[in-house]
Amino acid sequence: MEAALEQARACAFSGDVPVGAVVLGPDGCQLSAGRNRREADADPTAHAELLALRAAAAVRGQWRLTGCTLVVTLEPCTMCAGAAVLSRVERIVYGADDPKGGAVGSLWDVVRDRRLNHRPEVVAGIRSDESAALLRRFFAGQRGAPEGQISYDRLRWSRVVAERARLESV
Ligand code: ZN
Repeated sequence: MEAALEQARACAFSGDVPVGAVVLGPDGCQLSAGRNRREADADPTAHAELLALRAAAAVRGQWRLTGCTLVVTLEPCTMCAGAAVLSRVERIVYGADDPKGGAVGSLWDVVRDRRLNHRPEVVAGIRSDESAALLRRFFAGQRGAPEGQISYDRLRWSRVVAERARLESV
């Protein structure tokens, strides 16, 4: 998870929401890394997990990532959860939950649907405080930005962060 957090921290350079991911091979060695690059690449699908999965497949020279582990700082969305299933990763390890968009148990459970023939194991909550803190800091910085520059996603996220803070205090 440290390598994934490092990727998330690097998002600061492009103004992207800080989410990072790595893929580990069956032997535990890191095959690839990715970070959210939606702003950097002007690509709605440039999520950390997708980029890390693609890079890992390129390294292995095959689309099947059997025996591999996807490690990501934030609970994957529907697209990335779907990509993880398609890649046949054995395990998904993530940090913070995403109650408004998570597809690995929070809002949907794309990866453990019994109708699927491949269901990766899930390990949630690894270094979630650090992952959430990165997101909180990012959105706290966004609040100082002019209204027009705050995207819908950022507003949505700042609401998530505010709700988390509220829940922590009750
Ligand atoms: Zn995603």
